[in-house]
Amino acid sequence: MIAFGPVPSRRLGRSLGINNIPPKVCTYSCVYCQLGRTIKMQVERSAFYEPDEILRDVQDKVERAREAGEPIDYLTFVPDGEPTLDIDLGREIELLRSLGIKIAVITNSSLIWREDGREGLMKADWVSLKMDSVREEVWRRINRPHGSLHLASILDGALEFAQAFKGELATETMLVEGVNGGDDHIREVAGFLARLRPAIAYLAIPTRPPAEEWVHSPGEEVINRAYQIFSEKVGCVEYLIGYEGNDFAFTGNVEEDMLSITSVHPMREDAVSEFLARAGADWPAVHRLIAQGQLIEMAYEGRKFYMRKLQ
Ligand code: SF4
Repeated sequence: MIAFGPVPSRRLGRSLGINNIPPKVCTYSCVYCQLGRTIKMQVERSAFYEPDEILRDVQDKVERAREAGEPIDYLTFVPDGEPTLDIDLGREIELLRSLGIKIAVITNSSLIWREDGREGLMKADWVSLKMDSVREEVWRRINRPHGSLHLASILDGALEFAQAFKGELATETMLVEGVNGGDDHIREVAGFLARLRPAIAYLAIPTRPPAEEWVHSPGEEVINRAYQIFSEKVGCVEYLIGYEGNDFAFTGNVEEDMLSITSVHPMREDAVSEFLARAGADWPAVHRLIAQGQLIEMAYEGRKFYMRKLQ
């Protein structure tokens, strides 16, 4: 099955997934990969499916979704491996244009140093680049890349891509406890992201069983600090922490709204006060969530922040 969904996606609304790579062919074997260790490490781009077969499969799913009255906001290449390994990615995007739906690609960035690796991505409307580290040794530890890859070339390729790309650029940084969440390291990543100028930088944590048992999410303190450091350098930062709540919808329920907002952004104390005032509520609602262990209070640079409890 090449097309799946549509599924709700916090990043892309209702997204119809396209699995253009057989499981699990990848240039990386990330320690946190929810698909387990990479079965086939590969860096040479190759053909996996006929582009026409992909078009037919996606078209069929789109028609069925339309018949069922289900909207689709994006067609998203998010396979069981690295989508830019597919030598026909650009051609597939061109064919899918006939469906009149925006197209997204979520890539680990590993082939972006190659001109033909960037070429397919250029045709998409929305691209997310994985940026877990800008230090060679940390990158090797967390992403476990194919031995022939070099981080410096990937970072250069990402800059080149970001300058030329006309669509919307996002980045995604997965935080792993004890590996890449240190302040200095996060500052270096944030500094690089500032040069990429993404429309949005996502901070993620492992929320599904990882490839390696020792992988855990860092604590909320680390995640909040990373958020603050990113925010100083990049305009828009959001968490991807696996909570698919009623994003920002005003439910009329202050506690539910607080939890859904703080699962995306930590809220500063003054923002909470304003929010409570608008909702006609008061601080006891917040204190109840803290007492129930659903919300936590943290300090960063002399200010108080509130964040949804993750574990
Ligand atoms: S790049 Fe994605 S698919 Fe490949 S190993 Fe990492 S998390 Fe898994």
